[in-house]
Amino acid sequence: MSESDITVDALVVGAGVGGIYSVWKLRQSGFSVRLFEGSSNFGGTWNHNAYPGARVDSEFPFYQLSIPEVYKTWNFSERFPGYKELRSYFEHVDKVLDIRKDTTFNAEVIEARFDDASSTWTVKTKQNHTAKCKYLILCTGSTYKRYYPEFPNMSSFKGDIHHSGLWPSDGLDLTGKKVGIIGQGATGVQVVQELSKVAGQTTVFLRTPNTAFPMKQRKLTVEEQNSWRPRYSIILRDTARKSYGGFPFDPPTSASYADATPEEREELYERLYNQGGFAFVGAIWPDYMFNPAANRAAYDFWARKTRERISDPVKKDLLAPLDPIHPLVGKRPSLEQDYYECLDKDNVKVVDLNTSPIETFTSKGINTGGKQAEEHSFDAIVLATGFDNYTGAFSTMGIKDTNGVELKDRWRDGVRTYLGLTCTGFPNMWMVYGPQGKSADEPISIFDKILIM
Ligand code: NAP
Repeated sequence: MSESDITVDALVVGAGVGGIYSVWKLRQSGFSVRLFEGSSNFGGTWNHNAYPGARVDSEFPFYQLSIPEVYKTWNFSERFPGYKELRSYFEHVDKVLDIRKDTTFNAEVIEARFDDASSTWTVKTKQNHTAKCKYLILCTGSTYKRYYPEFPNMSSFKGDIHHSGLWPSDGLDLTGKKVGIIGQGATGVQVVQELSKVAGQTTVFLRTPNTAFPMKQRKLTVEEQNSWRPRYSIILRDTARKSYGGFPFDPPTSASYADATPEEREELYERLYNQGGFAFVGAIWPDYMFNPAANRAAYDFWARKTRERISDPVKKDLLAPLDPIHPLVGKRPSLEQDYYECLDKDNVKVVDLNTSPIETFTSKGINTGGKQAEEHSFDAIVLATGFDNYTGAFSTMGIKDTNGVELKDRWRDGVRTYLGLTCTGFPNMWMVYGPQGKSADEPISIFDKILIM
């Protein structure tokens, strides 16, 4: 089969976790398969994201493929591995499964059309590959298309300016430099933790504070992993899959927040907070999602714990206000290691964008107006402003429905899918980790569906 003219049962797009699993599963089920990857390596988000501090916040052992050949011969070094270790993990995965033999790298999909008469998709890439397939499986992830806010005069800044998702491949030495960071999602938290330790002056432009929970990072031993390994097949394929959020935490002993005494509440909050990771939001009484009083009590506990770690009274109120900006988990909380201690340092400034908005970029930095009107000068600015999540990748692939209408136009007035897996008018096109999908289940359930067709 020529590299540029391919005919297979299934074409998979994207060589991250979902794409690799899909290739493996399709092979197991007897399908011929090809994987198109736009970049030159495996890893998906871990291949693209190399910003300082990039690290997964899904804890060991749950963030790994449930493929025995892979997990039997791999050990992680930390509870929450960093991106370099995750890149090594993908090398291991390829070594064991030889995904490479079915992969075309540097193959960016720019067109996909379905022919009704032959029930076939024809997929073209920017690099002139053409593939014909019955099944088109899109594993393009959530964080492919970077989001750049349109601040006035951005291009006038003369220093380094980088989006977190496009960090220079040979790194960037910011030791002793003046750095500005916009965005405090999971990425911004990790960037602040790293850069504030080396930069001379760090300025964080904050719109919404992150309700970040302690990660409680720790080293893992091989012995510990050997003791888990016999249970991986059940934990990864069953227990985690059936749990809320993918992490099988033990449920609380009483049924709801309302049933618990104040002492029981405090004991559970304290225990889960100290357990680290997403234990707190994943294992307190689930009614905190529906009962405002339960949600507020959980927030108040988090705010009390967080405020104890911040000495500066202004930063305390900005980063962990006594009154929540939104209900707990109304925005996804992140995990942190010493984020609040980093922000509390004298050489770290926090600018509240709600009272002091960015007025303009200048050749030297950023001017804010309002309460903290100031000319901030920087050597470098980091945009940790996120992505066109989930839909971003689909909008660049030129996928057309049976009437010739592009997917991005079909979704112009709102995304419509069936269970986040399929979309009417796109026969045999499947989305893994698609918008409206339940990501954790998809790599498995998608093939259950294909196999019964
Ligand atoms: P994100 O969660 O979308 O956060 C973007 C940040 O930029 C937010 O703080 C947002 O503020 C801010 N922002 C956006 N536009 C702005 C503007 N015009 N002015 C000021 N601030 C602005 O992006 P992310 O942190 O890169 O994360 C992307 C996805 O990857 C998320 O799903 C995240 O969970 C995931 N992720 C996971 C890990 C991990 O596993 N460890 C690491 C990184 C990312 P507002 O909140 O006010 O909108």
